Amino acid sequence: MTASSSLLGIARRSWQVASAVSLLAILAAGCNRNPESANATAAGRAGEWTTYGGTASEQRFSPLTRIDEKSVSRLGLAWSFDLGTLRALEATPIVSDGILYATSAWSLVYAFNAKTGELLWMYDPHVMKDHSKFVCCDVVNRGVALANGRVYFGTLDGRLVALDAKHGTRIWEVRTSPEDSPYAITGAPRIAKDKVIIGNAGAEYAVRGYLSAYDTATGALAWRTYTVPGDPSQPFESDAMKQAAATWSGEWWKLGGGGTVWDAIVYDPDLDLIVFGTGNASPWYPALRGTTVGDNLYTSSIVAIHAKTGDYAWHFQPTPADSWDYDATQPLVLAELTIDGRPRRVVMQANKNGFFYVIDRENGAFISGTAYAKVTWATGLDAKGRPIEAPGARAVDTPSLVQPSPDGAHNWHPIAFNPATGLVYLGVQEDPFLYTIDRQHKLDMHDSTMGLDPRYAGPLMAQWITTMKVGGRLVAWDPVKRQEAWRVEMPQPKSGGTMTTAGNLVFQGRGDGTLTAYRATTGDALWTFDAGVGIAAAPMTYEVDGTQYVAVLAGWGGSNILYNGPTGAGKVGFGQLLVFALDAKGTLPKYERPQRGVPSPAIEMAASAADITEGAGLYGAYCQRCHGVQVVSGGSVLDLRYAEAYVHHSFQQIVRGGERRLYGMPAFADSLSEAQVQQIQAYILEQTKQAATATTPPPAQ
Ligand code: CA
Repeated sequence: MTASSSLLGIARRSWQVASAVSLLAILAAGCNRNPESANATAAGRAGEWTTYGGTASEQRFSPLTRIDEKSVSRLGLAWSFDLGTLRALEATPIVSDGILYATSAWSLVYAFNAKTGELLWMYDPHVMKDHSKFVCCDVVNRGVALANGRVYFGTLDGRLVALDAKHGTRIWEVRTSPEDSPYAITGAPRIAKDKVIIGNAGAEYAVRGYLSAYDTATGALAWRTYTVPGDPSQPFESDAMKQAAATWSGEWWKLGGGGTVWDAIVYDPDLDLIVFGTGNASPWYPALRGTTVGDNLYTSSIVAIHAKTGDYAWHFQPTPADSWDYDATQPLVLAELTIDGRPRRVVMQANKNGFFYVIDRENGAFISGTAYAKVTWATGLDAKGRPIEAPGARAVDTPSLVQPSPDGAHNWHPIAFNPATGLVYLGVQEDPFLYTIDRQHKLDMHDSTMGLDPRYAGPLMAQWITTMKVGGRLVAWDPVKRQEAWRVEMPQPKSGGTMTTAGNLVFQGRGDGTLTAYRATTGDALWTFDAGVGIAAAPMTYEVDGTQYVAVLAGWGGSNILYNGPTGAGKVGFGQLLVFALDAKGTLPKYERPQRGVPSPAIEMAASAADITEGAGLYGAYCQRCHGVQVVSGGSVLDLRYAEAYVHHSFQQIVRGGERRLYGMPAFADSLSEAQVQQIQAYILEQTKQAATATTPPPAQ
């Protein structure tokens, strides 16, 4: 029941896919090209944006200055492209050789003439859409890598694909994880010399995390480095795994251990190191993964390995024995900072756990860690950066109210460092969470293993959502002085990734669809544009033929919308690629979401109160991650309260039988019995009935 795009969206796209002029366009534009420029992966040519984070350092800083604090008020829409999806867009486009590459939901890849917006080609890897079952936070993709005239990207179902950058034809494809296993790829690959590096997601399921390197030319696996130890009765893959095993207890390997590398990976060409962040241990709670002592290395850690071999170099673990889903996968930024009068080569991260870390990237030594948001799980850090935990922060016997939430004080959203201002620009959210441990937790290899108490789906959650205090802001953080330089409060907690330029500008979008340019030194808002759909992805900028452009993907969704429904504030709508230039006058067609009336149950179904209660728990465990807490959808998948009679009549075939697998609704026959599915249906109908009699109208769908 999770259609990726409406029929309208598909129709919009169809003519674009069949673009027959792409080859002509390439030939016409190709006369002044440098044939070697596609090799530019580290710095890129002036005006290009050649890696996920702009350059190898991933500072998301552009030296371009045509658009600056004086001229930015003249910025307007140069061209746009409707991506025809209601799902979240999180990619940063890449531009090289006059071509802009972007990815969309379900791992679709697009190439455009960066100047005109003409679609050159599109590639659909035909992801099995029921793989949506194995992603916590929407069917997203954060972008491509580019090298040697090839585009590399990962697919939601775990494949790594190399395409010809000019024509979009497939050169090779490899599986990075076993077919139909709970691994997924949502992050962008990175290039390290002749290797393409890719991790995976899945630590909310029972998997073992790893990072893989493939030969850029052939797709042959060069090395694979695990992040957590396997079965200790078998030989360890490395000394690092042996060391890590000493920090675990119980039989963790049976649940995989977690520690997936689902987003941040940077290649440091100076040191020939790959630095990456690892996700939570699995399940979330140490007690449920059998941990009584130990830090559970290398989960929730920043790890460096040698690019040539994949061998361990160093690690720093912000959250030992994580109990809060504090993945350390947030963006990693390489920089040189002068600290105490001494130049240091550092890696920086605004960790989910609320601390901003500056780490020596030569050896992993802790330089500083400072709270950049409200932190209640720890009272501070010791001299080596180890957290001093607050009493009662771990949910053991009773629920624990803790800040930050599993969504983090900051998450995957790119951050930007401007060497001219010395400031890091990032969205910060204040978002507490009630951690509840499910002591009856049973491993289900077909579903998530977080270990949250399913009661959370019920009244406890409802009460919590209505009472929690959330907030958000754009912050300019001084990593040397370890303090804010300025902040801009946001009307809602979740805001998007950032980009900064030598024109003294910072660009950031937010959930209500506003894209704003701020003065980098002061935070003054200088220009704004209403995209009509929420922006989570980071803007980027590039120059073609003397014109500077700013591009961003607008498309709102993710766990905020799927899970929290309307409380995950932001505008859901058809995703757009938006490209701006000075003095451009383009406009977006106005799109109004259709208003729906009060829902009413499409069928009558007899059910006991006990069945409905049971159904609520099952719904919480299996359905709400996509269809929303208490059956209130955020708008990117079907709101089940509006399900028509034919859906209810086919309910068993859809939920257990996989009748709608092709649309993203997985089959749950392995996890749920017929009777349980009926209980879920009874709960949905009960929620529908309650909505029908509620005095306040339901949110627009
Ligand atoms: Ca996680």
